[in-house]
Amino acid sequence: MENIKNRIEDLRKLIKYHSDRYYNDDAPEIEDYEYDMLMRDLKKLEEEYPEYDSPDSPTKRVGGVADNSFDAVVHTVRMESLQDAFSEEEIRDFDKRVSDTVSGAQYVVEPKIDGLSVSLEYVDGVFSRGSTRGDGDTGEDVSGNLRVIRNIPLRLNENIPYIEVRGEVYMPKKSFNRVVDRQLINGEKPFKNPRNAAAGSLRQKDSKVTASRGLDIFVFNVQQIEGKELNSHKESLDYLKKLGFNTIPDYKRVDTIDEALSCINKIGESRGELEFDIDGAVIKVDDFSQRELLGSTSKFPKWAVAFKYPPEEKQTKLLDIEIAVGRTGVLTPTAILEPVHLAGTTVSRATLHNQDFINQKNINIGDIITVRKAGDIIPEVLCVNEKHSEGSFVFPTVCPSCGEEVTREEEEAAIRCNNPECPAQLLRNLIHFCSRDAMDIEGLGPSIIETFVDSGFITKTSDIYHLEKEKISKLEGFKETSANNIITSVEKSKDNDLGKLIFALGIRHIGAKAAKLLSDEFKDIDSVMSASVDDILNIEGFGKIMAEAVVDFFNSEGAKELIEELKAVGVNMKSKTVVKDSRFDGMTFVLTGTLEKYKRSEASKIIEAFGGKTSSSVSKKTTYVLAGENSGSKLDKANALGVSVISEDEFEEMINE
Ligand code: NAD
Repeated sequence: MENIKNRIEDLRKLIKYHSDRYYNDDAPEIEDYEYDMLMRDLKKLEEEYPEYDSPDSPTKRVGGVADNSFDAVVHTVRMESLQDAFSEEEIRDFDKRVSDTVSGAQYVVEPKIDGLSVSLEYVDGVFSRGSTRGDGDTGEDVSGNLRVIRNIPLRLNENIPYIEVRGEVYMPKKSFNRVVDRQLINGEKPFKNPRNAAAGSLRQKDSKVTASRGLDIFVFNVQQIEGKELNSHKESLDYLKKLGFNTIPDYKRVDTIDEALSCINKIGESRGELEFDIDGAVIKVDDFSQRELLGSTSKFPKWAVAFKYPPEEKQTKLLDIEIAVGRTGVLTPTAILEPVHLAGTTVSRATLHNQDFINQKNINIGDIITVRKAGDIIPEVLCVNEKHSEGSFVFPTVCPSCGEEVTREEEEAAIRCNNPECPAQLLRNLIHFCSRDAMDIEGLGPSIIETFVDSGFITKTSDIYHLEKEKISKLEGFKETSANNIITSVEKSKDNDLGKLIFALGIRHIGAKAAKLLSDEFKDIDSVMSASVDDILNIEGFGKIMAEAVVDFFNSEGAKELIEELKAVGVNMKSKTVVKDSRFDGMTFVLTGTLEKYKRSEASKIIEAFGGKTSSSVSKKTTYVLAGENSGSKLDKANALGVSVISEDEFEEMINE
């Protein structure tokens, strides 16, 4: 019995952990199906062993967040969750439970949209407030962000005194692909799926961000209404449509559970072709008076059930393995399969993640493998069933896009191409090259760069310096002045300090500060290019990974060509840091604690002006630790290493000498 109790507690902890990842971080770590199965195990145990049941178990509560970022909204009508079913048998059990209480129930079947639930309120036909579901009782006021969703009417077609409706905000697949693409280009962590993307986009502080994400909505329920009587679900959906709402598509009223089951199958078959993700189908009792008789539990109504399509698995032949280069230079393998029908779509490709994954499963071309697909997630290879070839597939040693040698860093799963001129990485590299901390080319933002790449004006980085005003001004949306401005800022960028150029090259692990240190240390690009790992390691703050990244980068033929081309168009290749008084030459300072006379940035500037450097960590290479009030661990470390510690007064003396 102690075992059972422990198992129940473990499950609750695990569910709480995954629920936090999903609702709070919008970054789930497991598939929904796996989560649902954990929940199901817990529910079964609680039913079997009621002595261990608890009112605060996740099986009794609606999961969600209502944190302090937005104003709280207390829902007058609870925003309930739905009980779920995973088989025909469970749907028939639901029908039986319904028939035990009411007779002759008609059902409405609808797709279950995979987004997040919101409530919309209207007073006299005008949108007055919108909120998230939260924990079902209290949600968050996200009215501002909901207003920017085009399909949410701000004024209804009738001036009804009051209505609260419930709907699902979702991110269409097209918007999702666009958003993820952008995130990858910007080096951000991409959203895992459209549901999490929708949730993350709706709970934004800035509605402009929400507006840029292309969200949409389907409305599926009337929560409260004044000034109109509605008697059934079908009637209310028809009425919502008339008011101007984008109502749930493809809803159908049926007389029997068999018909409902066939609707579920149809929806399941079509889900691959839909423009949005669904994670199931919902069956609802149509008649409102019957709903009242059936009632609710603490978590969900007893008059509805959500059928969740379980993931499907099938065996097929692995015909080939395709290696693509992503925009970040990472090589990703895709399995090319003999097509199989899975979860409503024909599947002919599946992800293989990386070389380690392929080795672990011992996958090779020609093998018979099992693929799995749940809902709209990308199909995955589960295992090899029959081996038809020796060993595992091995990645190529050169980049399939540009032919340059690829590298794999120690302890990293990814194999990558470092060539800055690799065509597959062009767009991302260009956006970085022109960005503010890099070459700072005003007017060449991400979307304009994309337009120039699409129109063939830029096929490699140095083409930026060959842009022609006449050609640009002929493009749609450009005028002579905007073309002029772009050319002027391109010209201006030729004068940048070497540090900005090094950062603009997008060398892995080399941020703006490290780029400046390289520039200060080696003074011109040729010396940076011929520096060895040991030479670079002499720079305070540089470790092996950074030093190797610089050497690897300049070993690439593409990098050498790029530098030659940039030289040819007149881009500055020399450090501009002028050191007039070099009293701190070769010295490294670490600043710690609260300084009274200078801001830290001011003190750093003074040190640099005298030829010194600053670092954030104390090591044997540190010359001085400048310690203010309340200095902590850095001061201790300096003392332990025997590094000289100076006060602000002593520092002043040194600079005023
Ligand atoms: P639910 O999503 O299974 O069902 C309830 C929701 O369905 C409602 O809030 C409603 O907004 C929505 N819905 C969509 N279309 C609808 C329609 N036509 N009619 C009625 N409702 C409709 O339940 P839940 O409590 O919101 O959340 C559980 C879901 O979240 C599960 O799918 C679960 O797998 C997932 N989840 C996953 C993880 C993970 O780690 N992967 C963690 C937590 C939760």
